[in-house]
Amino acid sequence: MTALEPMIDTHCHLDFEDFAPEREQILERGRAEGIRWFVTIGSGRDEASSHAAVALAHEHRDVIATVGVHPHDARCLDDATFERVAALARDERVVGVGEVGLDYHYDHSPREEQQRAFRLFVRLAREVKKPIVIHTRAAPEDTLTILREEGAREVGGVIHCFTEDASFARSALDLGFDISFSGIVTFKNSEALRDVARVIPTDRLLIETDAPYLAPIPHRGRRNEPSYLAKTAAHLASTLGMDERALRRATTLNAMARFGLSRFEEARQEG
Ligand SMILES: [Zn+2]
Ligand SMILES: [Zn+2]
Repeated sequence: MTALEPMIDTHCHLDFEDFAPEREQILERGRAEGIRWFVTIGSGRDEASSHAAVALAHEHRDVIATVGVHPHDARCLDDATFERVAALARDERVVGVGEVGLDYHYDHSPREEQQRAFRLFVRLAREVKKPIVIHTRAAPEDTLTILREEGAREVGGVIHCFTEDASFARSALDLGFDISFSGIVTFKNSEALRDVARVIPTDRLLIETDAPYLAPIPHRGRRNEPSYLAKTAAHLASTLGMDERALRRATTLNAMARFGLSRFEEARQEG
């Protein structure tokens, strides 16, 4: 049996409460499918999720974290919370700021509050020189405007769980953002999204689970976990007419570069 080509889950929520009792097994199942790195996203209404993500990144040699406040919770972002998340953003095991952004589909927070929080985090990312992990839904113009006005190109980042159109993708690519596909790309009714995937340059493509959400076919509707990334990788490879190993290799290289993971690879080999 040939070894599995490694892959990187660029977006999962390992701090999710439901995962706690079997987190070790979940990580093991992910590794068994070839996951080399888990990027766990700390993003809740306060700094608790960020804190938990950073702790996980220190506990596990193959877990690395990002920190932020989700647009849903932007209304809860006060100065003290922002300062505590900003302090965590400086942690050596933190490789990005996010997920942050705008969600006008749910509008869980007033749009002005979402915009205010988003701008603060783009500035923070520039200050700590780390890429931005963006959640954007039903807010393409405002997302691009804020990224442009706040100089996000300086650090770039990822449009996570991409569901926008090709024109948004092109603008995001121009601004230095890679495009990350989740299990949604495997859904039967996602033909338009697969068409977008076909026009993304291979060196700008990433894959993610967004676990525990958005499980890919054939697990759709159930709790997602990083090991299911293999399904998304296989599906996306066939969509793009690529060999699955080639898709894994390309997306892994892209994620390594985007999050600067080589420096951690050295530490992994030494210890
Ligand atoms: Zn998201
Ligand atoms: Zn997420």
